[in-house]
Amino acid sequence: MQAVGLHADVIAVTSRAFATGCVLVRSGGEAFCIDSPVFPDELEILPAIAEQAGFPVVGVLTTHADWDHLLGRYAFPEAALGAAEMTAARLVNEPGDAQRRLRDFDDEFYVTRPAPLSLPSPQQLPVPWQLDVGERSLELQPADGHTPDGMAIWVPWARVLIAGDYLSPVEIPMLSRGGSAAAYLATLSRLEPLVEQADHVVPGHGGPIDGTRAAAILREDRAYLEALLERGADAPLPLARRTKAQREIHARNAQSLTR
Ligand SMILES: [Zn+2]
Repeated sequence: MQAVGLHADVIAVTSRAFATGCVLVRSGGEAFCIDSPVFPDELEILPAIAEQAGFPVVGVLTTHADWDHLLGRYAFPEAALGAAEMTAARLVNEPGDAQRRLRDFDDEFYVTRPAPLSLPSPQQLPVPWQLDVGERSLELQPADGHTPDGMAIWVPWARVLIAGDYLSPVEIPMLSRGGSAAAYLATLSRLEPLVEQADHVVPGHGGPIDGTRAAAILREDRAYLEALLERGADAPLPLARRTKAQREIHARNAQSLTR
């Protein structure tokens, strides 16, 4: 796991699993943990990283309801869980789904956890919304398309965008669980002005990148999705993301359009 300070008030943590991104943000005497690393040893050491850096975590936020972003309460079991209304609805409507998928991952990689994942019903956050942390506010933006739920978080004083599963340098746009290419394109347009101002962007997977690189990925992702809508399976993949795993995601994307 890698931990990098992006700003005096922002630490980006990248998991060894799927290069999943987690961000600690603070202001005043409060900090939030946004999304999560995946492996138990990473979750175990996260509170020490936060404490040593002076980030007293009082809340855990999730960008969307996919299981690999929901593990923050292993690290901060006392913290309140917050999620966008749509994400809270997904957690209610898909009871046990995150736990099941986590168990499948753990079974495949022979991972043992100290306890089953407990997810209290989250505090529902409207999006768009300004969420106070200490003396400052985070800007919550709707970010649907990858899945039907989702929010991106802009940290204005640090110029950091926490994108959720968008703008990944390693993963092509993925439509899953009822995600939509049209909604995905609308989210990219919504994120674009933030990306243009951003010093750093933390995507859901692939580690933090600078704003210029994120803007280039945004253009590639838009081109890919427009081609996907026009040409389905024949759409070309972004040049740097044509691995076998990404071609499989592409095949599922094309399939989901015909459904
Ligand atoms: Zn994800």
